[in-house]
Amino acid sequence: MIEAGSSLAPLLIGDVGGQEPLPGTHHGTCYVCGRQTEHGWAEAPSDNFTAWSQIYRGSVMCERCRPIFKDRRFRQRSWVATTTGVQFADSEHRTLLWDTLREPPDPPFCVYVTAGGQKQGWISLGIYLSTSRERYWVGTDWTDRPVLIERAWVHDQAELIDRMRERKMPKQVLLDGQFSSGAWDRAMREEWTDDIEAVLARVGDPRWEVVVRAHP
Ligand SMILES: [Zn+2]
Repeated sequence: MIEAGSSLAPLLIGDVGGQEPLPGTHHGTCYVCGRQTEHGWAEAPSDNFTAWSQIYRGSVMCERCRPIFKDRRFRQRSWVATTTGVQFADSEHRTLLWDTLREPPDPPFCVYVTAGGQKQGWISLGIYLSTSRERYWVGTDWTDRPVLIERAWVHDQAELIDRMRERKMPKQVLLDGQFSSGAWDRAMREEWTDDIEAVLARVGDPRWEVVVRAHP
């Protein structure tokens, strides 16, 4: 079951992240999670706020979403939130995302993958809580809404990505498909042009970008 429309995700993140509520003074509907609040924040989040395209309702940020917004780790890092805690993908947890995509935790959970670490892209997860290990949402900072991923599909891509990364193909090449003539020459010599063709067939698929970026 996928619950698009659930407003539990930020509460989950807030609860398990040990975030204390940050009460404001404005009442209204939270534009992140959709909750009614008497303690919201009505001002524009910041000058460099770049997630407006995801905001479609509400006039305040509630006291539960506010501390997540203020905690820079939630935008600078990729992370996984479950009912037992938030894990950030840092240097000590390099395989976190890749492991999670292939073997998701017990639901409910939230997964966020950042490419740039600048945008508050996690806000779009506010109404996309994952409630299945087979099909789940991944929030990103390069799509307007979370990407729906099937676990079996990730497993289908794994060997291709593993092979290309072992060949030292940069992630950017796997994302844009701009293989150099040298790469083509080598692929012909070593007989893996089929893999290049397979990559080219996936370029532009948001699910592909998720798994390439998630690969350690
Ligand atoms: Zn909220």
